[in-house]
Amino acid sequence: MEARIIRIRVKDPNGPQDRHVNLVVPDICPFCHHHSQIHVLARAASKDGSTAGALFQCGFEPCQSVFLGYYTLSNTVNSPVIFPSRPDGSVIPDIVIDISPSFYEIFLQAETALINGLTQIAGPGYRKALEFLIKDYASHLYPDHKDEIEDNFLGKVISEYIKEEKRIVEASKRATWLGNDETHYKRKWEDKDIHDLRELILLVVREIDASEKYKRYLAEMDKWKK
Ligand SMILES: [Zn+2]
Repeated sequence: MEARIIRIRVKDPNGPQDRHVNLVVPDICPFCHHHSQIHVLARAASKDGSTAGALFQCGFEPCQSVFLGYYTLSNTVNSPVIFPSRPDGSVIPDIVIDISPSFYEIFLQAETALINGLTQIAGPGYRKALEFLIKDYASHLYPDHKDEIEDNFLGKVISEYIKEEKRIVEASKRATWLGNDETHYKRKWEDKDIHDLRELILLVVREIDASEKYKRYLAEMDKWKK
């Protein structure tokens, strides 16, 4: 979908003329996380034309929350930083939250950092979230090995305790490689970034959710199998 643009007139720092700059209107509300028509209530720019702000209102009828967009202006299209920006917890299914409440908490903190533009902080946060997710999932599968799992390196936990679940192994291995890139001085995976790391973690999350639901249905219905 193409971004909705509004224009604002600002002073040109290099000359006497005013200039017009393009501001992107967000298409998602930071409160209800619905994609909706966002209304622009007001907009203004700083005197020197370097920054602008806008007041928005969510168009989703039951929400109608009001929030701010802050723009650092360039001559191209300007995307806002949104205040307040709150992560959407519904991307993590309840089954996964039950298995690892710590993962959920750390993941949402990393999300908050990412949507506030703090990518250097978000990266190690996602890496830490992944470690909690995998170790708590391994402990969920092998409750008697909880202590060993907690003491082991993440890579070893993946290869020893999750090996039955191939898709989780492959996605979490790759997430670990990218996660380590976020904490090391030198990057190895130059064509991948924090958004790939986030996407891989969400893939692991969806695979765990699917695997647990599958096992639950088999267990529940096999009781009655004739
Ligand atoms: Zn809303």
